[in-house]
Amino acid sequence: NTRALLERQREIDSSAVAYPDDIPIAFEEGRGATVRDADGNTYIDLFAGIGVLNVGHSNPYVLEAVHEQADKFVHTVDFPTEARLELIEKLDEIAPDGLRGRNRVVFGGPTGSDAIEAAIKLAKYNTGGDGLIAFRGAYHGATSGAMSVTSNTKFKGHYTPLLPDVVHAPYPYPFHLDRSPREAVDHALAEVRAIVEDPYGGLANPAGMIVEPMLGEGGIVAPPEGFLQGLRDIADDNDLLLVFDEIQSGLGRTGEWWACDWDGVAPDVMTSAKALGGAGFPLSATIYHEDLDTWGPGDHAGTYRGHVVGMRAGTRAIEYVQEHDLLAHARDLGEYIQGRLREVAADNDHLAVVRGRGLFVGAEFVDADGNPDGDLVDAIQQYCFEHGVLIWTAGRYGNVLRFLPPLVLTRDLAETALDVVVEAVEATTT
Ligand code: PMP
Repeated sequence: NTRALLERQREIDSSAVAYPDDIPIAFEEGRGATVRDADGNTYIDLFAGIGVLNVGHSNPYVLEAVHEQADKFVHTVDFPTEARLELIEKLDEIAPDGLRGRNRVVFGGPTGSDAIEAAIKLAKYNTGGDGLIAFRGAYHGATSGAMSVTSNTKFKGHYTPLLPDVVHAPYPYPFHLDRSPREAVDHALAEVRAIVEDPYGGLANPAGMIVEPMLGEGGIVAPPEGFLQGLRDIADDNDLLLVFDEIQSGLGRTGEWWACDWDGVAPDVMTSAKALGGAGFPLSATIYHEDLDTWGPGDHAGTYRGHVVGMRAGTRAIEYVQEHDLLAHARDLGEYIQGRLREVAADNDHLAVVRGRGLFVGAEFVDADGNPDGDLVDAIQQYCFEHGVLIWTAGRYGNVLRFLPPLVLTRDLAETALDVVVEAVEATTT
């Protein structure tokens, strides 16, 4: 059945479909942290649809509200609904210190890219500037503005010119920069300050900076201490807006509501999507300080500014995380996963670094000469797939094994999955 579906997809679907060549699976059903394919094989899901399914596949508590809402109405544009207002209030309740209580939310369409576009527009509108500072390793999406601030030229090379005034500064990624964490932070902040303050910095009229408080696609990298606060200071000193892209790292993924909570630094603007729609419903949001609420009616327009069913699902998903204390669970289970990986790393030179926060964990692999080894990680991923574990990769060289499971993953399932991952590493490196 799976083969037939994949074959049919190849015939009629877009050639831009990304995954089937890596992981030939066709989904039949998902429950919690497991999925069943079209032939009845079950997999443990450490991927969660790129971090969308924080409360698991087909969470019954979320689905109950979805059915209720869908039975009433599904679309209203911006007209007030209980669903809309309760999610705005819920997002305020969990907002980072500094935004909480002073939050505004503009909902967007289904993709994270929508939220990024709104954040860029908001920064330009409020500052009158047009330049943006972004960071190497960043991924912010596939629309024109979002591609402009993304660093990987693979994603944007064919679509230039994009936004003209975007400069990419280094992200403090000590492993690749071969610097200590402190040096990496100092270096990155000095670069940002130069771009903003030095007349030779190259950016004439900056509006703001956009940064992932933990790199996702770029390799699951938490910036060393001091980086986010340093950006906050530079933004404040120069009247720039600081935008945190929490699309992959937010909503409990790291064991805090937002990755920036780990650093206790609040942005002016924050983007959210993926898990926001309560495990799979299309929704994004740009969350910003009320002082920036200067748009007039319709200044940022759209037909799907908030999917009503997605909003209901989103509020329910946040409630579910709260009621089941999934932030603490994510931290505990993340430590377990990192612990298992570190045991492997202790006597396997190919596993160079294990890092992460909560259930946002990366394991970076190298070859015998210590160079990034994406082929090895592909082989590990393939082995896992053949043994019932779905897992993805990340990083500039594709050499980071990315753990992004639903937050509802149980300890038992995590143990089974980690047995397979460890076996996969051993089988491919010896
Ligand atoms: N920002 C980050 C940090 C992301 O990880 C992604 C998607 N991987 C995006 C933005 C773009 O989201 P979308 O693919 O929904 O447009």
